[in-house]
Amino acid sequence: VPSPPSPDVAALAAIVGPDHVLVDPEVRAGFEVDWTGRWRGTSAAVVRPGTVDEVAAVVRWCARHDTPIVPQGGNTGLVAGAVPSAGAVVLSTTRLDSLGPVDPVAGQVTAGAGTTLERLQHHVAGTGWMFGVDLGARAACSVGGMVATNAGGMRVLRHGSMRAQVLGVEAVLADGSVVRRLEGLVKDNTGYDLPGLLCGSEGTLAVVTAARLRLVPEPADRIVVLVGLPSLEAAVDLSARLRAEVEGLDALEAVLAPGVTLACEQLGLAPPFATEPAVTLLVEWAGRGEPPDALAALVGDHDAVAADDPGGRERLWAYRERQSEAIARVGVPHKLDVTLPLARLGVFAAEVPAVVAALWPHARCHLFGHLGDGNLHVNITGVPPDDKRVDEAVLRLVVGHGGSISAEHGVGRAKAGWLALQRSPAELAVMRAVKQALDPRGILNPGVLLTAEG
Ligand SMILES: Cc1cc2nc3c(=O)[nH]c(=O)nc-3n(C[C@H](O)[C@H](O)[C@H](O)COP(=O)(O)OP(=O)(O)OC[C@H]3O[C@@H](n4cnc5c(N)ncnc54)[C@H](O)[C@@H]3O)c2cc1C
Repeated sequence: VPSPPSPDVAALAAIVGPDHVLVDPEVRAGFEVDWTGRWRGTSAAVVRPGTVDEVAAVVRWCARHDTPIVPQGGNTGLVAGAVPSAGAVVLSTTRLDSLGPVDPVAGQVTAGAGTTLERLQHHVAGTGWMFGVDLGARAACSVGGMVATNAGGMRVLRHGSMRAQVLGVEAVLADGSVVRRLEGLVKDNTGYDLPGLLCGSEGTLAVVTAARLRLVPEPADRIVVLVGLPSLEAAVDLSARLRAEVEGLDALEAVLAPGVTLACEQLGLAPPFATEPAVTLLVEWAGRGEPPDALAALVGDHDAVAADDPGGRERLWAYRERQSEAIARVGVPHKLDVTLPLARLGVFAAEVPAVVAALWPHARCHLFGHLGDGNLHVNITGVPPDDKRVDEAVLRLVVGHGGSISAEHGVGRAKAGWLALQRSPAELAVMRAVKQALDPRGILNPGVLLTAEG
C-alpha cells in the first residue's frame, strides 16, 4: 500500500497551534510504540487539538487530503489499535481533558476524551458516587480510549463494561461533522444507539471527544480476600458459589501459578502464602457494614488472607494488578486476552502450555484474569515479537472451546487478521457496511479491526 503524502504541517499548525503539531522523530517516538513494546509504527505527525472544533477541523483537513488518522488517548491499549500506520496523523486527545461537575441528583458526570481514569476517579471521590469501571492502567488510560475499546477491568462483574456506563457521547465523524448527545437521559429510544455503536469501535468510526458517564453509589466498606485453591476448576466452582450466595461481590480475579511468585520476585512483594497454590483467587466484597456470613463460610475451608483497610487491600490487589508489570520485566509478551465459557476454562488453561511449547519449547506462559467474567489474559514470553503462529494457535484453541478471541482489549491491528475466526461472513458484512457508511474514504484507523482484504 503506498504511503499517503506527508501532511502539510503548516496547515495543521494553523488549526491547533504550532506547539501542538509534533514532527520531531524523538518526540513522536513515544506515540509510535505500544505499551508492551511489541508493536511499532511511524507517523507523519502527532497533532494535539484542544477543543472539539479543532478536532473537527483536523479531521476535515485529513479527509480533504486522504490522510489516515489514528486517534490516541493514553496509548495503553494492548492490541496495537493506537499504533500508527506509515504516513498517518496521530490525533492525540490528551488536551481534551475537561471534567464537568458531578451531578449528584442523576449520579452522572461529563468527561473530555483525554481525561485519565485516575483523574476522573479523584474528581468523583467524596461525592458519594464512584465510576464503575476500574483497571490497572488508570494513571494513563483515557475516557475516550476506554469508550473506543469498550474497556472492562476489575468490576465488570458488578457494574458491567464501559458500554454500560456511557449515557451519551460527543464525537467527530469522518467528514468533520460533530454529533453530540450529552444530556444523560437514561431512557432515549429514538433510533439507533450511536453511543453504543462507538463503544468498541476502536477509532474506526469516529473520534470521541467527550462522554456522559453514569456513576454508581460509592460503598462505605470493602474487604479483599486472597484464597489459595488447588486448581482452576476449584476456583471456578468457588466463584460460582460466591456469585450465587454473596450479595455485593465487586471482583473475582485469578492468578495462576507461578504468577504470584513472579510478581514477588520481580517487584519485591512479600509472598502471601508459604507455598503458592495452583490458583490464587482474589475476592472483593463492597457494601455497608459487614459482608454476609456466606463469604466467610465459603472461603473458610481454604488458605486465605484478608484485609479491610485501604493499605492492606492495595497490598493484596498488587499480586493480581501488577501481573502485566511483572511479566514485562521478563520479556516482551504476546498478550492474548480471551474469554471462555466458564466450564471450559480449566481444560483450556491446561492445554495452552502444550500448544505454545509445540512451537516454542522454551517460551513461558503466564495466565491471570477476570475469573468472574471467564476472561483470561494469556501472556507468552520468550517468543519473537513478529511471530504470529503462537497467537494463531492459542486463538484457534479458544475458538475450538467456544470462546472469544477478544474479551475486553479489542481487535486492533494485532488480531484483525483473525476476526473471521470469530465472526460470520454475514456479521463481517454488517461491520463493513457500517464502516463504509460512517467512513466512506477509510481515513479513520485503517487496518484496525477490519483488514483491507476482508
Ligand atoms: C497495565 C495495564 C492493565 C490493563 N488492564 C485492562 C483491563 O483490566 N481491562 C481492559 O479492558 N483493558 C485493560 N488494559 C488495556 C487498556 O488500558 C484499555 O484498552 C484502555 O481502554 C485504553 O485506553 P487508552 O486511552 O490508553 O487508549 P489508546 O491505547 O490510546 O487507544 C486504544 C484504542 O482506542 C482508540 N481511541 C483512543 N482514543 C480514542 C478517541 N478519543 N476516539 C476514538 N478512538 C479512540 C485508538 O485508536 C485505539 O484503537 C490494560 C492496559 C495496561 C497497560
